Amino acid sequence: MTHENEHSEALFLTSSYVFDSAEMAAKSFSDEIQGNVYSRYTNPTVRSFEQRLAMLEEAERAVATSSGMAATLAVIMALLESGDHIVCSRDVFGSTRVMMDKYITKFGVEVSYVPLANLSAWQNAVKANTKMFFCETPSNPLSEIADLEGLSQIAKKANSLLVVDNCFCTPVLQQPLKWGADIVVHSATKYIDGQGRALGGAVVGNAELMDQVQGFLRAAGPTMSPFNAWIFLKGLETLSLRMKAHSANASALALWLSQHPKVSKVFFAGLPDHPGHSLAKKQQSDFGAVVSFVVDGGRDAAWQVIDATQMLSLTANLGDAKTTIVHPATTTHGRLSPEALQEAGIQQGLIRIAVGLEDLEDIKNDIELGLSQL
Ligand SMILES: *Cc1c(COP(=O)(O)O)cnc(C)c1O
Repeated sequence: MTHENEHSEALFLTSSYVFDSAEMAAKSFSDEIQGNVYSRYTNPTVRSFEQRLAMLEEAERAVATSSGMAATLAVIMALLESGDHIVCSRDVFGSTRVMMDKYITKFGVEVSYVPLANLSAWQNAVKANTKMFFCETPSNPLSEIADLEGLSQIAKKANSLLVVDNCFCTPVLQQPLKWGADIVVHSATKYIDGQGRALGGAVVGNAELMDQVQGFLRAAGPTMSPFNAWIFLKGLETLSLRMKAHSANASALALWLSQHPKVSKVFFAGLPDHPGHSLAKKQQSDFGAVVSFVVDGGRDAAWQVIDATQMLSLTANLGDAKTTIVHPATTTHGRLSPEALQEAGIQQGLIRIAVGLEDLEDIKNDIELGLSQL
């Protein structure tokens, strides 16, 4: 595979590779020499993305996957077996929860859920067969923060791997490996792309663990397409600037909302009265861009606010240059029973904003349009 002196990375749209001789083919297939054989195994564009993401997480290696869910699936399939037990934070991404409950448990792996921010709950959930802790911090939609250093200590004592979904922060705002996590999973679909164009994911960690994860991906197939890797490579170039701009907009918006007479509560770890504020300050370089708030009047009031906005996109997606707005209780968390919703702290009057990169005044004006309905 030849690289010319292109400035923008080449996109290698090829499923397989040719060899100079039968001997080279044999040696490549037996891994005697490192070469490209087939794009389910390796692809130069995908490899560039993996190397850069690994650098950003300051990790030995990253392995790209077809989506964020494929990253989590690959970690579990590669590293656990029937009879093992996962302790998982309660407020993980909806599909993570469905995958665990409906599919992972089908293969004899047990899963227990604990409140993210309660270290003693994690400790108490450990069993003789516990092999993995899985968490997502900050949580969605309430911005709860896991104490990664504390969690990693409990996980180590329990001989378990700590896996952190770092999708909301990206390595620009948080590097979980520094706090003792063993593995980071990403949905590149969100901030790494940043403009909602492509699906992808990644697993990051030490070379030994990543070899095992890649072994599963090579055999099973949910690897990243070169085209998507090329989009994410472009995304990584602006990730740092974008995350800072997302965070600045979100912090200012959260402050404005917290002073708004029609808003009864704001959930954002950047606000000093949020229970996770000091932890977030310690382990993140900024607070990210997901802000949730409550209006009086329950579901009807929340729907009224959402429907009156004009610029914001009504969608459950996040990590986009465009600000999105959603009603968690009837969409992202709509499968939960009323009791489970209450346990998770998701009220009917709760609205979630994933703050984008538009001018802050435009975002405020649009939300004001909604709030003025009440
Ligand atoms: C979107 C998301 C995922 C899943 O990623 P896909 O790329 O959609 O498969 C996992 N975790 C979090 C926190 C997410 O927001």
